[in-house]
Amino acid sequence: MRIIRDKILQKQFYKENEIPTSAFRVTERREDLRKYADFFPAVHKLASGGYDGRGVQLLNGEKEYQLAFDQPSILEKKVDIHKEISQIVAINATGQTALYPPVEMIFNPVLNQLDYQLSPAEVPQQTAWRIEAIALKVVKDLKTPGIFAVELFLDKNGDVLVNETAPRVHNSGHHTIEANFSSQFDMLWRIMLGYPLGNPKHIMHAAIVNLIGSEGHSGEASYEGIEEVLKMENVFLHLYGKKETRPGRKMGHATILSPEKSDLVYKAKAIKQKLRIISLQPQTIV
Ligand code: ADP
Repeated sequence: MRIIRDKILQKQFYKENEIPTSAFRVTERREDLRKYADFFPAVHKLASGGYDGRGVQLLNGEKEYQLAFDQPSILEKKVDIHKEISQIVAINATGQTALYPPVEMIFNPVLNQLDYQLSPAEVPQQTAWRIEAIALKVVKDLKTPGIFAVELFLDKNGDVLVNETAPRVHNSGHHTIEANFSSQFDMLWRIMLGYPLGNPKHIMHAAIVNLIGSEGHSGEASYEGIEEVLKMENVFLHLYGKKETRPGRKMGHATILSPEKSDLVYKAKAIKQKLRIISLQPQTIV
C-alpha cells in the first residue's frame, strides 16, 4: 500500500520555501526518536491518516517515548501556543488573491477540545498583517488556484508559525455563509469557473459552534433542545443530515452573528448547553 506522507511533505515544503514553522524531524519508526533527545517536549504526528487531533501525540519527555507512533511520522518541537488561527486565502488562475479575516479557535482547557471559533480573530494589527503575509506566501508558493485554510500558531513570544494547510473549503470558514459578503463556497465556484474573486470582508462578527454527538449515545440521532436554539436571535443551524450519532461525531454546526463579542461567547456557550445530540433508540448506552 502506498502511504501518502502528507504531513511530512507539508513540513518539508514550508522549510524549502522559508515559511516559518516549528522545527521538525522525520521519524520512520518509534526507535528513531532515540536520536532526538534534544527535541522534547515535542508533538509526534502520523504522516497520514490523522484528523481533528487524532494521530497527534504530545510527548513531554523521553520517558513518554513508548507513546510515540511506530509508523512514518513527524516529530515537531512543541510550540508554546498563545492562539490558534486559521487564515483562509482564495487564489484564482490569474493569480488574483482574496484573504478572509483571520479566525481564532477557542479551546476548552479542561476537555482539551475546540470550544468555538471567532471571526475576526482578536489579534493586534501587526500580528494580523504577519498572519496575512505568511498565509499569502504559502498560497503563492503552492502555485495552484484554489481555496486554502492556512492553520497557524501565534506563540507566546508573538511569533507566527504555520501548522498546516488544508487545500479546500474548511470548517473554520463555515461562518462565511452568513457573515461575509462572499462565502468560501461562492469563492470556490468563482475560482473554478474562472470568474473574478468575490469580496471576503465580513458583514458581521461571527462565532461557530460544532454540534457534536453526546457521550453515551450511539444510534439514530435526535436533537434535544433544538427548539430553544432555533428561538435564539441571529443563530443559524446547519445539520449535516447524518442519520446516526456517535460520541464525538460532528453532526453539524451553528453560526452566530452579532456585533458584540460578549453576545457571541454567551450564545456559543448557551448552544452547547441547550442542544444535545442523543439517540432515543434501545441500543443507547447511558
Ligand atoms: P490535525 O490535522 O489532526 O487537526 P494538527 O496538526 O492540527 O492535527 O494538531 C492538532 C492540535 O495539536 C493542534 O490544533 C494543536 O492544538 C496541537 N499541536 C499540533 N502541533 C503542535 C505543536 N508543534 N506544538 C504544540 N501543539 C501542537
